[in-house]
Formats: sequence, C-alpha cells, structure tokens
Amino acid sequence: MSLIVQKFGGSSVANAERVRNVARIVTDCYRAGNQVVVVVSAQGDTTDDLIEKAAEINPKASKREMDMLLSSGEQISIALLAMAIEAEHCPVTSLLGWQAGFSTNSAYGSARIKTVDAARVKAELDNNHIVVVAGFQGLNRYDDITTLGRGGSDTSAVALAAVLHADRCQIFTDVEGVYTADPRKVKNARKLKEITYDEMLELATLGAQVLNNRSVEMAKKYNVELEVLSSLTKAPGTIVREVTNVEKMLLRGVTKDTNIARISIIGVPDTPGIAFKIFSKLAAKNVNVDVILQSIGRDGTKDITFTTSADHAETAVDVLRTSISELAGKQILCDEGAAKISIVGAGMESHPGTAAKMFEALYEINVNIQMISTSEIKISVIIDKEDADKAVEAIHAKFFPEV
Ligand code: ADP
Ligand code: ASP
Ligand code: MG
Repeated sequence: MSLIVQKFGGSSVANAERVRNVARIVTDCYRAGNQVVVVVSAQGDTTDDLIEKAAEINPKASKREMDMLLSSGEQISIALLAMAIEAEHCPVTSLLGWQAGFSTNSAYGSARIKTVDAARVKAELDNNHIVVVAGFQGLNRYDDITTLGRGGSDTSAVALAAVLHADRCQIFTDVEGVYTADPRKVKNARKLKEITYDEMLELATLGAQVLNNRSVEMAKKYNVELEVLSSLTKAPGTIVREVTNVEKMLLRGVTKDTNIARISIIGVPDTPGIAFKIFSKLAAKNVNVDVILQSIGRDGTKDITFTTSADHAETAVDVLRTSISELAGKQILCDEGAAKISIVGAGMESHPGTAAKMFEALYEINVNIQMISTSEIKISVIIDKEDADKAVEAIHAKFFPEV
C-alpha cells in the first residue's frame, strides 16, 4: 500500500463534469489499494473573480479580509469533490487548511507555511478515508485565515507529501507536463521527461506557471519527487527530481514574465554608498529587486535602472521619491511595458555561445534588448512587452528547431 498525494488545479475542477472526472482518478487510485490525500484549488477562474468582486467594493481592502474572501474558493472545491467521491461510493472527508494542520506566518496574501500538524489527516487515513484538503490556505498564530500567494495549492500539496512521507506527489493540471515553453503559446514546445529541482525552480520563478516556485523549493528541501501530469489524458507526465537520468540538454526551456516594471533613476550622485542606500530602503519595504543596471558616471552623476515585479512598482517609486534625500528632485521613470524573457538549462554552463545564440534570435526579429542578466543556469533579457510572445517563439525555434 502506498500513500499518494494528488493535487488538482483550478481548470481540473472547473465544472461538474471535471469534478466527476477528478473523483474517478482519485477513487481509481484508492481502489487500487492506496491511501490517497487530495489537494484542490478553487474552481476555474474563481480566485480571479473573487479579486474582482473585492475591487468593486473596496480596491484598497486589507490583506486580512482578502484572505478571508479568497480562501472561500477552495472551500467550495473540497466540498464538491468530496460529494463526487461519495457518489463513487468511497469514504471521504474534506478538510480546510486549518483542519489539516497548516500553520503559517502572518504575511496575509503570501503567507509561508511554518508547520503542518497532520494528525487529523493521518487519523482519517487510518480510518480508510480519502482526505480532500483545501489548498492555498492556513492559519496564523492569531487564528486568522491566511493564503499562500497565487498558485499556492502546489505548495500545500508538496508540504503534505513531505510531512506524510508520501510515496508519490502528483500535480495534475491542464497540460501533460512541463514543456520547453508554454505549450499553449509555442506550438513546437516539447514535453520534458524529467527536469531537476534547480532547473524547475528557475523556470517557475521566471514565469512558467505550471508549478509554483515555492512548491519546487520545498520539494527540493524535503526531497519530494514530483510528477506533473494532465487530469484530462493518461499520457505520462514530467518527473521533477534532484538528478535526472535523461541526456543532458543544453536548455530546458524558454519563459516569459510580463508582470514586471522597469524603474530608472536619472542623475544619481556618483558617490560611494548611494546604491546601498537605494537598495536597502527598497528591501526594508519588501520590494524585491531583480535585474540592476548602472551607467558609468559622467559629470558627477550616473543612472540606475532596475526591475521589480509590477505589484511592487508603486511602493518602489514611493520609497525612492520620499525616503532618500540624495534623490530629491531627480527624475524617476517607471515603465510597466517591459517583459523578461529567459532561457534556463544546467547544460549552458559548459556551452560557450549560448547567450550569443539567444541574442541572435532577437536580432533576427529586430527586437531590442534593454537589459541583460545571467547566472550559471539562466540568461534573462528585458525587452518591450509587446515583443514578448514573438521573442519566446523565436528563441525557442533557435534552440529547439523542428525535427
Ligand atoms: P493549475 O490550475 O492546474 O494550477 P496553472 O494554470 O497554474 O494550472 O498552470 C498550468 C499552465 O501553465 C498551463 O496551462 C500552461 O499554459 C502554463 N505554462 C507556462 N509555461 C509552461 C511550461 N513551460 N510547461 C507547461 N505549462 C506551462
Ligand atoms: N486558487 C489559488 C489561485 O488561483 C491557488 C491555486 O490555484 O493554486 O492562485
Ligand atoms: Mg497553478
């Protein structure tokens, strides 16, 4: 008998027919003699719809009340899925995040899981029940509901798999696995058989929505092997693990992130300590800075440009305008029309010319590069948002020519 954690995303439970389909996958697994813990997301676009509803009432609603609202989406899903499993004549119990023992910190809207006390889940499993758990949510030390950030149900599933020492953690979604690019956007995207945690973490962080990056971080930390697969077909999926057995590819994928802003400060004094001041003040306000570019000093001044997520742009500009005396009266530009395109692959470490090949693909479609950043296993460029899709297509075609 194995213990299996299965996670189903929003599109997998979007309507009654899909919920019944999930119930069949779960009960087939249970009837094959396994213990099954299921984690579900809110149905379809429920979370987006709830965010819109809140904005109609109060666009500046507190994060605490937002979490109270958003967590309700998953409550609907667990009850409906449990009902569908009952209809398949299997014993089942649905549990909210707190009932399943999820304790988090108090960062409403992007809470981190601190512990999972899985006593209740284990008791239900010992009683031969299938357990259906609401993803994306937990309870903080004030007994308030928190949510884990968009896509957070993946992390709920991995956390449960880790504490329960599950034999398998399956992430069911609406595509057949992890691809070399978003298969909905790039028609020649190839499905990967396997990918390492490190590569998957980069892909997820750089915009491949298929897995939430925190879930990959946690899977690596607790050595939880993940299988990403479709809830709609029976095709084999992608395995995410520490070391892969397949031949080393130069690249694993191309991603895009359009949720970024590019902020430039013009005419910063060219003196020691100014970068420290700027970036420490931003850090104090939890503004995550990504790519940084500084021009050479000329006539005692220089320009500093950096990117951050679009959600942090307003705070960032506010910090620069109000809390750094040296920047008083300086021009601060915020451009939300930028996108970050990245290539990821452990193989590029030992392949000179990878960056040049990426830049050539962009040159061939006449796309201008605004900023560049690299690490051992990734290269990112900042370009105009309008060019993002054709850039991904061109770079993908360059590295993964049609066979
Ligand atoms: P779920 O609701 O199951 O959590 P998501 O919408 O969060 O699903 O993630 C699945 C989506 O991720 C796919 O529909 C696909 O369009 C997108 N995606 C982006 N990049 C990739 C990639 N490299 N491989 C697979 N899917 C990707
Ligand atoms: N329902 C949440 C979201 O849409 C969590 C998730 O789907 O993982 O972000
Ligand atoms: Mg998701």
